[in-house]
Amino acid sequence: MADPRRTRAYRKLQQQMRMQALGRLDNCWICGGAIDYAAPAHSPDAWELDHAKSVQHHPELALDPANCRSSHASCNRSRGADGAVMALGKRRKRLRS
Ligand SMILES: [Zn+2]
Repeated sequence: MADPRRTRAYRKLQQQMRMQALGRLDNCWICGGAIDYAAPAHSPDAWELDHAKSVQHHPELALDPANCRSSHASCNRSRGADGAVMALGKRRKRLRS
């Protein structure tokens, strides 16, 4: 099956989710830390769309807003496709403004 994240519909959803997250100033759902919405895409503290149920295991939920979560790019990466949340108690530096 083709990766649903490579579709135009997904990119549109991603933009909508980012706008909503920015409006609410969502924290990262994985580590609870503040997200740097001004950070360039893919930098570690930047916002990234994550999925409560991984796209790899639940591709049918990739475009479901209810499955979408706000995360740091770095947390999203370290979590990986198996959905295992990394060690608790991981501390992050406070973002400087
Ligand atoms: Zn995080």
